[in-house]
Order: sequence, then structure tokens, then C-alpha cells
Amino acid sequence: MQLLEERILTDGNILGENILKVDNFLTHQVDYRLMKAIGKMFAQKYAEAGITKVATIEASGIAPAVYAAEAMDVPMIFAKKHKNITMTEGILTAEVYSFTKQVTSTVSIAGKFLSKEDKVLIIDDFLANGQAAKGLIEIIGQAGAQVVGVGIVIEKSFQDGRRLIEDMGIEVTSLARIKNFENGNLNFLEADA
Ligand code: 5GP
Repeated sequence: MQLLEERILTDGNILGENILKVDNFLTHQVDYRLMKAIGKMFAQKYAEAGITKVATIEASGIAPAVYAAEAMDVPMIFAKKHKNITMTEGILTAEVYSFTKQVTSTVSIAGKFLSKEDKVLIIDDFLANGQAAKGLIEIIGQAGAQVVGVGIVIEKSFQDGRRLIEDMGIEVTSLARIKNFENGNLNFLEADA
């Protein structure tokens, strides 16, 4: 997605060896126009797939996920990272190791929001080692629902996440694919949409 790649080049900052900071438009301050365009791209890609729900993990997945849900006219569910006393019934959970925070947390979705009839599109801001997407796939599987695909805003293709998800037989659609970081610059692979 050209608009996204241009924005990454303008506003992205490389931190250390393998982190991209995009807090100007995606992970802290949110550019809703760009999110809207991202949502439309995912909706076009999955127009014939019969998606009934979009799912993500709080917090940075929520912005692209809600615009994808709007474009597909379906609800968006975000998995919660902290248990909440109001979550009392039929909680579905998975353990997720966070690449950026380097801690494992239990993420959860209330079972009442997923059913065997659901066809779910997972959306996330980044794909690194695939642990966030894997946790969501486990939760959606516990509900007996089907994961139709994983839609990623920025994939770091030099990490293992894409292979992990594809090895489960699930399609990955990444709007920007970063091949590598090189001397403070970044190189893209051809994106999926
Ligand atoms: P994974 O679970 O695929 O290893 O990592 C994905 C999650 O870690 C994303 O939801 C995102 O929050 C965070 N993440 C991974 N890599 C980066 C990165 O380079 N930059 C930022 N801002 N977040 C990242």
C-alpha cells in the first residue's frame, strides 16, 4: 500500500536492531484518514470472504481494526490484556508473549462475542514473531469459529511471524512488508495489497 509505505518512510523511526516506531500515525497518535484507507484495503481484499467479525488485541491493533470493521460493516472485538471484574462469563484466554514489552500476558475475549458460525478476520498493527496473532487464533479456535485471514498493517518480514501463521494454513495479508533495516534506512518487500 503505497500511501502507507510513504508514511513509514516519512514518519517511522528505527529503534535498535528490529523495532520501528510509528507513534506519529499508528501506535499512539492515530491518523484516522490513513486508518480509513487501511480499513478499505482490508475490506476489498476480503470482500468475498463472508467475514462476520474483526478481532484484534488492545491497544495498538484497535485503530486499524475498527476501520476495517467499519468498511466491512461488522463488529470489532479486541482481546483484553487485563482481567476485569465485569468479565464474569465464559472467558476464552490465551498466553501471549509481547515482543516489545518482553512479558507474557493472558489475553481474553468473552465467549459470548464469538460463535461457531463466525468467520473472523484478525487485524494487528505489527507482525513480528507472530505471538499476538497466534494467541488470537487460539482464542477464536476455542469458540469453534473460523479464522479467515490475518491482516497486518506493518510486517517485519525478517522475523518469523508470517511463517508461523502460514504454517497453520492461514493467509497473511500485510499492507507493508519490511525486508530489513540497513544503516538507519529500511527496505520494503512487495506488499500483499
Ligand atoms: P508478535 O506478536 O508478532 O511478535 O509482535 C506483534 C506485536 O508486538 C504487535 O501487536 C505490536 O504491538 C508489537 N510490535 C512488534 N514489533 C513492533 C515494532 O517494531 N514496533 C512497534 N511499535 N510495535 C511492535
